[in-house]
Parts: sequence; C-alpha cells; structure tokens
Amino acid sequence: MEKSEEGEEYLFKIVVIGDSAVGKSNLLSRFARDEFDLHSKATVGVEFQTQVMELDGKEIKAQVWDTAGQERFRAVTSAYYRGAVGALVVYDISRRTTFDSIKRWLDELKIHCDTTVARMLVGNKCDLENIREVSIEEGKNLAVEEGLFFIETSALDSTNVTAAFEIVIREIYSNVS
Ligand code: GDP
Ligand code: MG
Repeated sequence: MEKSEEGEEYLFKIVVIGDSAVGKSNLLSRFARDEFDLHSKATVGVEFQTQVMELDGKEIKAQVWDTAGQERFRAVTSAYYRGAVGALVVYDISRRTTFDSIKRWLDELKIHCDTTVARMLVGNKCDLENIREVSIEEGKNLAVEEGLFFIETSALDSTNVTAAFEIVIREIYSNVS
C-alpha cells in the first residue's frame, strides 16, 4: 500500500482468486470497464486494472489483479499475492466443486498475506438461479465461520459487482485511516 506525501491518495492492491472459470476475469472487467465477455479466453496478459474512487474526499486507487489463468496449473505465484490488502475469493453458485475449493484458497491466502487482508467471499453467476448448486445460506454460513464478508454477484447482468469491490475497498480504507 502506498500513501502520498499529502496523505490524500491511496493505492490498494486487491487480488481475485478462486477456481478456473468461476468468473474472476469477468468480475474484474465488469468492475473496471463495465464489460462482459461470454467467450473469455483464459489469458489476456493483463496483470491488473486500476479503478479510481473517492472516499472521504480522498482519492483511492484500487489496483485489482487477475490471475490470468495461472490457477489452472495450481501455480498462482507469491508475486501475485505480494502486498495485497484485499481479496475477493470467488466461487460459481452453479458448480459446487468451486465452493468446495474455497477453504483451499483461503489457506493459500493465509500463507501469502497478512491476517489483516480484507476478504470477501463472492458467489458469482447468481443469474444462473435455475441451475444453482450452492444456496445463499451455505455461502453466508461459510463466510461467518471464516470471518469474511459475503455477497452474491453476476458479472453477466452486473448484480452487486461494484458493491463487492466497494465493500472491500471501504474495509481496507477503514483499516488504514
Ligand atoms: P475465470 O477463469 O475465473 O477468470 O472466469 P471467466 O471470467 O473467464 O469466466 C468463465 C466463463 O464464465 C466465461 O464463459 C464467462 O462468460 C462466464 N461467466 C463469468 N461470469 C458470469 C456470470 O456472472 N454469469 C454467467 N452466467 N456466466 C458468467
Ligand atoms: Mg480469468
């Protein structure tokens, strides 16, 4: 995290983790550019995108990192996590296996990041209600157990995407200010 000399500018590194194809890249592109891609390829080569917002009259730069497909090889590097102060831990509500993986992702986060990292459990693809495999209750319960924020999102129809990032950014901000 960086703070300018005037103390008016903040840079927060936020990582997005979770199994392959849960929608991490689309959550990021929806948040940063309001774009969605139905046939998104695994790698675009972009490491992170920056979104600026204002809080308390301060300029906050959220630098959100994308794994760019590394997770398929179980090889998300420590460089990816280095300096992160926030994390979105994402599963797909229509695929239970991705929910079962959450504990593993949380363990990985614990290995690489400070315990103060602001963490949000994200159940993505909530537009797929008709093929839902993980209930909202299960998501909530896991979040309570692990001390995480919880939200369901849809990168496809935009539901709660901005909210997911903003809640994490506010939490980070309240940790440092
Ligand atoms: P990543 O591997 O976690 O980065 O996942 P992607 O962002 O590449 O998305 C994987 C697939 O899920 C793509 O075909 C997306 O179009 C689709 N997808 C992503 N988010 C959503 C969503 O909110 N709803 C639906 N229905 N599909 C989604
Ligand atoms: Mg991706």
